[in-house]
Amino acid sequence: MQEQTDNCIYNTVAGLPPTTASIFATHVKTLMKPMPNAVDDLMHAAVGIAGEAGELLDAVKKQWVYNKPLDMVNMVEELGDLEFYMEALRQNLGLSREVILLQNIEKLKHRYPDGYSDAAAQARADKA
Ligand SMILES: [Mg+2]
Repeated sequence: MQEQTDNCIYNTVAGLPPTTASIFATHVKTLMKPMPNAVDDLMHAAVGIAGEAGELLDAVKKQWVYNKPLDMVNMVEELGDLEFYMEALRQNLGLSREVILLQNIEKLKHRYPDGYSDAAAQARADKA
């Protein structure tokens, strides 16, 4: 984790304006309830992700099962809640979103060198 400066934890280079990501990181850092120990902090974030993923799934279920229109206001809210806990978990682990996104790109480039296919999904070349 980079050192916190001013009200922005990711933009540590003087003179750079805050980005949406850095503002959001500070937002999460400010609002995430500190737990008594590191394991509880980790569990709080992980359980939060699972809970918000469930809320997102329920919103989709209402369209899929009950033929209701997809509630886009709720979808945006639940995606934001999910982002909140994902950022909290990243901060807990000292990882940036950028590092994780780049790692995922590399993994899936190896798994799907010619684009998605069921065969490549089954072979999981990145796990060989
Ligand atoms: Mg929610």
